[in-house]
Amino acid sequence: MQQLIKNLVEAYGPSGFEDEVRALIRAEIEPFADEISVDAMGNLIALKKGNGSGKKVMIAAHMDEIGFMVSHISKEGFLRFANIGGVSNLHLSGTRAKFADGTIGVIYGERRTDRSKIGGLDKFYIDVGASSSDDCPVSVGDAGIFWQTFVERGDHLSSKAMDDRVCCAIGVAALQQLEDSAHDVYFVFTVQEEVGVRGATTAANRIMPDIGIALDVTLTGDTPNGAKMAVDLGKGPAIKVKDAGMIAHQGLVRLMRGAAESAEIPHQLEVLLGGSTDARAMQISGPGVIAGCISVPCRYVHSTSETVSLSDVKNSVKLLLEILGNPIDL
Ligand SMILES: [Zn+2]
Repeated sequence: MQQLIKNLVEAYGPSGFEDEVRALIRAEIEPFADEISVDAMGNLIALKKGNGSGKKVMIAAHMDEIGFMVSHISKEGFLRFANIGGVSNLHLSGTRAKFADGTIGVIYGERRTDRSKIGGLDKFYIDVGASSSDDCPVSVGDAGIFWQTFVERGDHLSSKAMDDRVCCAIGVAALQQLEDSAHDVYFVFTVQEEVGVRGATTAANRIMPDIGIALDVTLTGDTPNGAKMAVDLGKGPAIKVKDAGMIAHQGLVRLMRGAAESAEIPHQLEVLLGGSTDARAMQISGPGVIAGCISVPCRYVHSTSETVSLSDVKNSVKLLLEILGNPIDL
């Protein structure tokens, strides 16, 4: 599991450029899926057929990560950029940028004398080691990611792009291990979640599932002076009740809690004040879909050291398999 997570989180895949991630996932799941396809948006859709007596279930985990796109190159060779997704200016200076061709840049902010003031993204630039716009190895329109390698520290795993590759790994593991389900399960590895759940929207409109379950990370409330939130790292997958974009289907929340209890899987309930997931897209797709989300607690979301607990990851696989292995009567 750790090796799969490492391979996925270190892959390059800002929103709209998910090809490398998709190829990695496809190689993992191809032998286990009954049907596999890629739609026009780039979503990877893998069907694991049931015995015909169950529901049509869509599982969604997003392949894309936050990043940036070069918007301007100065004559001295410094890059300015637009955000792709929820990029925070609080964590940028000193981080590294990586482009599709492997070019690495250092990100830094314009000189500030007042430490209490951090400028907007327009005050940051990327230094790729060029001395002028002529010898700059990247172009306007090139996309990049915030680069950091994977590290395992006991039960804690840290890297960029845990959001949401760790959940791609959970989806892969569940697909590989799922046997004898009554349900037709569509495992969808979605694109462009970070810019507004775009891939999940079109995939759900195509599949028209009875039940939609997103797999994504959520914030925790267990760090010094952190958010007041009743989710801790290492205390099990969080069953989403509400976030800023959706209220989960109460029957599905009950079913998830029941599955966790009967299989003795540690779990917690998530009420997230901001943000949303692919579950929102599924819920309001087509004529409306019963939707919920299994969330992996994650510290430092949208930084280059997003941190999850391996035991939470393994318990998320267990919970998903427990749900898919039993009747879904709501
Ligand atoms: Zn996410």
